[in-house]
Amino acid sequence: MKTDVFITGGGIGGLTLALKLVRAGIDVVMVEKLPGKQPVYKGELLQPKSMQIFDGLLVYDEVASNAQIIEVLDLIELSKSLKVKEQSFMDYTVIPGKYNAAYMIHHEVLKKIIRQEAEKYPNFHYFNGASCKEIDVTTATVQKGKEQFKVEADFFIGAEGRASVTRQAMGIKVEPIKYNHHFITVTFPRPANFVGGQIFSSYNRFLGLFPLPDDQVRSVYLIPAGDYKKIREKPIDHFHKLYTELAPSIDGYVQKLEDWSKIQLMIPIMYHVDSYVKGNKAIIGDAAHAVHPMAGEGMNMAIQDADILGELLVDMYKTSSLNPSNLKHYQNVRMERAEYLIQLSHLSALAYSFPFQPVSWLRSKTFERMEEDPVLHFKQMLNVSGLGMWKESVRDRFIQGGVIPTRKKELPSEKKEMKLFSAEDDYPWKWKGLS
Ligand SMILES: Cc1cc2nc3c(=O)[nH]c(=O)nc-3n(C[C@H](O)[C@H](O)[C@H](O)COP(=O)(O)OP(=O)(O)OC[C@H]3O[C@@H](n4cnc5c(N)ncnc54)[C@H](O)[C@@H]3O)c2cc1C
Repeated sequence: MKTDVFITGGGIGGLTLALKLVRAGIDVVMVEKLPGKQPVYKGELLQPKSMQIFDGLLVYDEVASNAQIIEVLDLIELSKSLKVKEQSFMDYTVIPGKYNAAYMIHHEVLKKIIRQEAEKYPNFHYFNGASCKEIDVTTATVQKGKEQFKVEADFFIGAEGRASVTRQAMGIKVEPIKYNHHFITVTFPRPANFVGGQIFSSYNRFLGLFPLPDDQVRSVYLIPAGDYKKIREKPIDHFHKLYTELAPSIDGYVQKLEDWSKIQLMIPIMYHVDSYVKGNKAIIGDAAHAVHPMAGEGMNMAIQDADILGELLVDMYKTSSLNPSNLKHYQNVRMERAEYLIQLSHLSALAYSFPFQPVSWLRSKTFERMEEDPVLHFKQMLNVSGLGMWKESVRDRFIQGGVIPTRKKELPSEKKEMKLFSAEDDYPWKWKGLS
């Protein structure tokens, strides 16, 4: 079999890339090793940049109508006796323009929307239950059941997540960094009027609640690394109590989980490869980077990689510039942005990693100042949104640390708009040219 672009992995990154390519008439073969739905929870929070990308792919309305909009995240710091001590907000509406909210959507629903859209094109060839075993310079070897087949392609893209056969074929290694904590995660029913994201923390506890459509809520609860087995040995009431002590509003709802069967362990790790591209191969999403889930970026980084690499490949085919050295433009745009978000997520993770009272105090003060200072607030929301990147200055750090007072003046809309990535920032080769 011959194709233009061979993609290993039909996760959210691979599917977004495939949709972008097939819409431009490029022939795509995608292999996905799972025969059906993912058995584990995956990312569900869509940041504004992902929504902008889906708008460009003409699926914005369908994604939005299957999702729960989140405009504000409540950060609630509790005292030792679990009374509300401080409350601050992360407000997406400080971002100008159409893409000023996050959206929660079931991971498999999102994948289905994108896949079904791609399947409208005859040049999309999707094989599920098919695992890529090996890739050399021109050919991938695929195993589907007992049969093996070969696919020749111009380009091979690895979108296989953490265990990447393409990354291996490129000779690139990863060194994951582990954390001192894990999470338990599960989805359960919620009150209909619970529609904003909520993060509860005390000096030694953390619970994140993110409303999904159909009156459900996805939860993440922090536990010390290695404690999962011990916790699961306890009766399910113990789990209910862990949640309701922090978030009384879900009392009566979390109890709908009658046993531990749906409750999963999630182990955060962090890595970033030193190269996304080698010859006619490239990697996107979790194949290239893993990020601590605290800032809700993993899935979004995969979508954003797919957008940049997809646009580049479309332009390469359009202008018959198929020299693989052009792939470097993808790395040039994405690597710095990904590194910044990996570090931002890492810092957010550290803010919740140490069970000491002074850390809790410092954290709530930092969030309070971030909310009070319009520049800091905008920077934070812009950076997590993926729509732009505005790094913190020394002055910002002093304000956060309480060394100098917060600013009071709102940023004018025009100044905010200038900080959003332009088409030239996203797709610079359109101006510089391809070789
Ligand atoms: C529990 C959990 C919660 C998370 N929460 C969030 C969140 O709230 N927000 C967020 O942004 N991110 C979150 N993430 C991270 C997010 O899910 C990932 O970053 C994102 O799914 C990465 O997308 P991807 O397409 O790169 O890889 P994946 O989603 O891992 O997809 C890779 C696909 O490739 C397939 N595959 C692997 N090897 C082969 C092979 N050899 N041949 C064929 N197919 C293959 C796999 O079966 C899989 O379907 C979470 C992750 C987990 C595990």
